[in-house]
Amino acid sequence: MNIDLDAKSIDIDCLGQEMYNLIAELYPICRSITGNGVRKSFQIVQQHIPLEIHEVPTGTAVFDWTVPKEWNIRDAYIKDKTGKKVIDFQTSNLHVLNYSTPIHTKMPLSQLKEHLFSMPDRPDWIPYRTSYYEETWGFCLSDRTLQSLAEGDYEVYIDSSLEQGSLTYGELLLAGDTTDEILLVCHSCHPSLCNDNLSGIALVTLLAKYLSQQQSLRYSYRFLFMPGTIGSITWLSLNEAQVSSIKHGLTVSNVGDPGNLAYKKSRRGNAEIDRTVLHTLENSFQEYTVSDFSPYGYDERQFCSPGFNLPVGSLTRSPFGSYPEYHTSADDLDFVRVSALVNSFETYLGVLDTLENNRTYLNTNPKCEPQLGKRGLYSTLGGKQTTPTDRMAMLWVLNLSDGEHTLLDIAERSNLSFSTIKNAALALTDSGLLKIH
Ligand code: ZN
Repeated sequence: MNIDLDAKSIDIDCLGQEMYNLIAELYPICRSITGNGVRKSFQIVQQHIPLEIHEVPTGTAVFDWTVPKEWNIRDAYIKDKTGKKVIDFQTSNLHVLNYSTPIHTKMPLSQLKEHLFSMPDRPDWIPYRTSYYEETWGFCLSDRTLQSLAEGDYEVYIDSSLEQGSLTYGELLLAGDTTDEILLVCHSCHPSLCNDNLSGIALVTLLAKYLSQQQSLRYSYRFLFMPGTIGSITWLSLNEAQVSSIKHGLTVSNVGDPGNLAYKKSRRGNAEIDRTVLHTLENSFQEYTVSDFSPYGYDERQFCSPGFNLPVGSLTRSPFGSYPEYHTSADDLDFVRVSALVNSFETYLGVLDTLENNRTYLNTNPKCEPQLGKRGLYSTLGGKQTTPTDRMAMLWVLNLSDGEHTLLDIAERSNLSFSTIKNAALALTDSGLLKIH
């Protein structure tokens, strides 16, 4: 069956704008690894796709970890002695150390400073900091604000709660012709940060929407929206029996910045997903980088832990931690671009199209070359005039379709693009010279 996940059939600029608008809508919400900000964000995602929401109670044991208490925050500020707010959570949710315990007290600046975090080398940016597993409180602020604070007493107020509750994650399974799955994972735990977190959510949401509109899909698709680390540990712990269905996977983040695409291989290093992404990037006529697996980064760390060793890589633009705006207030709505989101979406689609169509075929006429001319294959292919490349592609497909080589094997060996090889295979199948193995 011909499955064509083709960006040509989409109004891609409109889709790019839709991704950007979703990022803008989610941007003001204060998210964390648990809490109402995550639920509110998933409700917005549900306006696009039927995301199923799961709640896992605080205290649930998940492998070597425990689902933490639920954190919620309503307000926070620091007031100087005149009653003026010098830091206000309402102007940026990055101002509060994520997971801060509640506090309302007065203290001198010298004591307060132990709880203040800034970036002296980027004096106008607010850093993003968290303290999930150590109960404390703090504020993040620009270094310029910090330097301007006069000595004296300050009123410190954080109206938060850290209580029994649950960890919330979102899941959508799109059934295909087979139960073999392609997994796409994005993290949902960052507050007002656009590239790290929100660009991944937007791309995965609209990719799920696009795939759900397809007539038929070979693979089933599982989309997971989860807090980083603890979310995937929780999901893997609760779904261990199902993971053998996952045949290919990618973690999706940092897909909206103007940097080049970057691929981090799965722990296996030469899985079909690794070869597919590399082939797609190689044939995209743009600069990109590739790195080997390392046990750091996004949730590929958990899916690639030795007890699972799943074929899950990470396809991003600028890798985490590699750009100055990373985990700061400068990762804002100006930092992500519609054009970058579009380019990332098209690349993901190219990867999925290759996985969907990467099959092994059999040449039905394997003794010497079949006569292509008398079948009209030398002049037209798929209704179009053939090029010398199309003819080479047909010869390669016929020669290597011995039941041992997939179309991706053939594309790699012939140095032709997967789509050229795929189109040749389709034409040869239509003429009866090829059949699926
Ligand atoms: Zn991050």
